[in-house]
Amino acid sequence: MKYIDEYRDERIARVLAKEIADHTTKPWVLMEICGGQTHTIMRYGLDELLPSNVELVHGPGCPVCVTPLEAIDKAIELASHPDVILVSYGDMLRVPGSHSDLSRAKATGADVRIVYSPTEAVRIACAHPDHKVVFLAIGFETTAPANAMAVWQARREGLTNFSMLVSHVLVPPAIRALLASPENRVQGFIAPGHVCTVMGYTEYETLVRDFDMPIVVGGFEPVDLLEAILMLVKQLERGAAQVENQYVRSVSYQGNRPAQQIMKEVFEIADQKWRGIGLIPQSGLRLRAEFAAYDADKVFDLALITADEPAECISAQVLRGLKKPTDCPAFAMRCTPENPLGAPMVSAEGACAAYYQYRRHMVAAGPGGR
Ligand code: SF4
Repeated sequence: MKYIDEYRDERIARVLAKEIADHTTKPWVLMEICGGQTHTIMRYGLDELLPSNVELVHGPGCPVCVTPLEAIDKAIELASHPDVILVSYGDMLRVPGSHSDLSRAKATGADVRIVYSPTEAVRIACAHPDHKVVFLAIGFETTAPANAMAVWQARREGLTNFSMLVSHVLVPPAIRALLASPENRVQGFIAPGHVCTVMGYTEYETLVRDFDMPIVVGGFEPVDLLEAILMLVKQLERGAAQVENQYVRSVSYQGNRPAQQIMKEVFEIADQKWRGIGLIPQSGLRLRAEFAAYDADKVFDLALITADEPAECISAQVLRGLKKPTDCPAFAMRCTPENPLGAPMVSAEGACAAYYQYRRHMVAAGPGGR
């Protein structure tokens, strides 16, 4: 299959791994931001192909994992209203809130429905004028344009029973917060190719300048990631700090301008809480004042909710690349995909779920799985 098979070619992957080893003379710590990239690394054992002095750590780029507990708790509260239909992507249903999750709310009678796009939520609102339909709008810059379109569509159709519970996050402010932390160990980033397909990579140039550290936009197949790692290692070894684009078949410098435009018209940048990490200034999106009628936080009188993670979940360190899932004492014991304690064990993009699927044999080797 064009653009898939050649990027999964084992022979090319081994050539790239050898080239990485040949270029590496010092230890380097690299972070892939996106959970989809983490799953490719684990699934194909790419970390095991690398020389021992190139360490990969996993970043906060799983949208389900970083959606704050408070947003889940609000969604559960909204779903409990008898006249509300709560609409969500499927992987949000099993994400634990502070006391329950949406799938349990559904099992006890709440009207919770799964959709594959926000426009389906608009269609549900059209079909049920006697109900208030709330869409749980989460994700990075990749999902924001479609969510913005849904709000436009609801306004064009004159819907008064559709709103969104918005919890959108942005990648560049998260990278800035990670790099500014005194605990940071990361020396180079693989930026998420799907986010950059929408946003381009102009925003990463300031980060590279401010922190004197390379960023390579990477794709999602094994050869993409090995090539991106090679580009980072080459820059690091020669002391360079630039933004480079490995994922040229999808990403352009400026990105998708019409998608950026609709995002800008509907959303504005705001401070945002990230699950496990805390508040990151100017790292999220909220609906603009002119779309307040579609903002569930304003439409409903929601109680001020604050919530804490279970004490034994170390997802805060996992999401910042400070610990690996196998360092968590609960990993594969009290925390499994069937009974998750934290969001990274639930999502298809979560680092803990990736380790559970591909590396849980390592827990036998002791904490850290080494
Ligand atoms: S294994 Fe479970 S408890 Fe441990 S960090 Fe991951 S989600 Fe949290």
